[in-house]
Amino acid sequence: MSTPRSRFAALLAGATALAAVTTAPAYGETVKLTILGLGDAYSFSEEDGRGGFARINAVARAERAANPNTLYVFDGDMLSPSLLSGFDKGQNTIDLTNLVPFDIAVPGNHEFDFGPENFLEKMAASKYPWAAINITNADGSPVPGLGGVMMKDVGGVKVALIPVAQDTSPEVSSTGDLVFLPTVDTAVAAAKQARDDGADIVVGVVQTNMANDRALIASHAFDVIMSGDDHSYATAYDGVTAYVETSIDGRFLSPVDLTVEIGADKDGKRTIDWVPMFRFIDTAMVEPDPESQAMVDAFTAKLDESLNVEIGTTETALDSRRNVVRAEESAMGNLIADAIRARTGADVSIANGGGIRADRTYDPGTVLTRRDILTELPFGNVTVVTELPGSQLLAALENGVSQVEKGAGRFPQVSGMSFVYDPTAPAGSRIASVTVGGADLDVNAVYKLATNDYILGGGDGYSALGGGNVLVDAGNGNLMANDVMEYILETGKVTSTVEGRIKKVGE
Ligand SMILES: [Zn+2]
Repeated sequence: MSTPRSRFAALLAGATALAAVTTAPAYGETVKLTILGLGDAYSFSEEDGRGGFARINAVARAERAANPNTLYVFDGDMLSPSLLSGFDKGQNTIDLTNLVPFDIAVPGNHEFDFGPENFLEKMAASKYPWAAINITNADGSPVPGLGGVMMKDVGGVKVALIPVAQDTSPEVSSTGDLVFLPTVDTAVAAAKQARDDGADIVVGVVQTNMANDRALIASHAFDVIMSGDDHSYATAYDGVTAYVETSIDGRFLSPVDLTVEIGADKDGKRTIDWVPMFRFIDTAMVEPDPESQAMVDAFTAKLDESLNVEIGTTETALDSRRNVVRAEESAMGNLIADAIRARTGADVSIANGGGIRADRTYDPGTVLTRRDILTELPFGNVTVVTELPGSQLLAALENGVSQVEKGAGRFPQVSGMSFVYDPTAPAGSRIASVTVGGADLDVNAVYKLATNDYILGGGDGYSALGGGNVLVDAGNGNLMANDVMEYILETGKVTSTVEGRIKKVGE
């Protein structure tokens, strides 16, 4: 196993020309690089005193002020989902990030939630470069305005930024005709090429899931990887690659300092040696940037205003009272379940009654606003999609009705299916029959289920929903509330009724 130093010496053996092309510090000098990564920044405002762009921008400004050799990189996902982005298609995040521009930004899957044209428009409105080496037009030509590998001279150190998008984006977003090349293979090839081209430090800026991250780290082609998509915070260093998983909404930030030592081997060839130092910033401890905070405040007012916008009229009576949505079929439950099924193309959907919260009725003729839907679905749950055998769907429904006598929130509001149950039978064997699309449930068939991230993760006792083939996970889905708003906006009306999807035995 080679040490980093000897590996670099070997890799840079052919790079003697480098000293000539960079205004390099003298051999033996050290240069401190700071790399700050951000990704999955959806919410313009803080949550519980943590995250949000006023704090993120404060940290980025402070890092740049403290060290001019700072690279500030965005590893994907800002345009969606959020309540305000459901209204302005993500312009708020562009405005806020323009205040403290990135050195490079990689499009995450959510950058395409409003279609490729919206991404191109937002890219043009950005005061910083967007880039991805693995996105092309359908004919293989480059996407105008979207860059590739970026070589930067940072204090005399030649840094290659390798921007990589998640290749599953077409499956979870609206990428149109854009082509996504394989994430890991494309990234590793580009990193090796950048090294051959004389990069001292190769930085991956990647919107990739954990499995791909592991493959990228294991490739040893990168010195640093800043990764988004997973929403978690993690740092790692295996002696070769320093890695940061960049959290969500900038709640936790981790600038990585590289003390880069530039030297020469016995043949006089340039060598690069470095060690990483990870810093941890809990943004709850950060004073918000005043200019950014003023913009955040303006967006807060705009969001509030946007919630008053009318999205459609209900032609039928809707009921979201607590005792209804947790005990019987409800027209509001049907509306929500229909919306997430329609928006995802799933066969069936389940919405837990406990997630429907406004606890009220709507008379026919009521004009619905965005605020009404948000009040019904206040938890910020995300629409997810999984493939499951009928047996697990049945088990999920059994869980759903297992505590109906207690008014438990797990009661299932459904779409694409109907069921009959016996509330007096023992919990676990209450479901008498289930039909999907009019036919009896086949316990061996695989169904595509839309639901929310909370119960897919086992919330409300829904462990039966786990273990399937997840097609859209929590990191990749839309806000349920936005899905319902869009569903109503499509026709401008609601016609949901109680139609016999859920019946008790003998009814
Ligand atoms: Zn993502």
